Amino acid sequence: MNKWPAMIDGDHIKRVLNCLDKAYGTELVCYLKHETPWQLLIAVILSAQCTDERVNIVTKDLFVKYDTLQKFADADLKELEKDIHSIGFYHNKAKNIIACAKRLIEVYGGEVPRSLEDLTSLAGVGRKTANVIRGNVYNDPSIVVDTHVKRISKKLGFTNEEEPVKVEKDLMQVIPKDHWILINIHLITLGRSFCKARKTDCENCFLKEECYSRRNENV
Ligand code: SF4
Repeated sequence: MNKWPAMIDGDHIKRVLNCLDKAYGTELVCYLKHETPWQLLIAVILSAQCTDERVNIVTKDLFVKYDTLQKFADADLKELEKDIHSIGFYHNKAKNIIACAKRLIEVYGGEVPRSLEDLTSLAGVGRKTANVIRGNVYNDPSIVVDTHVKRISKKLGFTNEEEPVKVEKDLMQVIPKDHWILINIHLITLGRSFCKARKTDCENCFLKEECYSRRNENV
């Protein structure tokens, strides 16, 4: 971890996590609707550069039409593109979903694998997606660095990095393991309420006393 403000010590982190637990609870909620691990995997692939809300609208019908992994593996590319066209990058996403479904069936017997290595061997699955699966499906401690986590972690003084992998490494050093899955859920919720990308509502934010950014306006 790079040198970072002295205020970021174990006690500070604990106070921030306590505030988040108190405000948002400790339940591991998932914002992407799904009933099976492979549905979650497909929903996460679809969610790149797209809101969870839009993905949930699309998957509501998609998972009825393609109700088995085999149906995704056998899907016609053009038809699947049409089915997901309201989501950005639908051409690549459709291609990846078909390839991913095929590999899941051929190599993993239709199961979603657990390890980072196996998960990232699937088409359309990067480290972030793999960590979503590890946390949500297998409850393996893993930190998902999405746009909210990256932005707000910096504001709270947890990191001063920009690259997601480096942010993840910093967070792994300062956040206790029992909060690795939760921190993503909490920071997404914070990023959709008080700490929005366009405008923050620091005055009303329950973290205002602890927030590094609030004390240092250039962050
Ligand atoms: S005090 Fe402001 S910058 Fe800090 S977490 Fe809250 S909304 Fe975000």
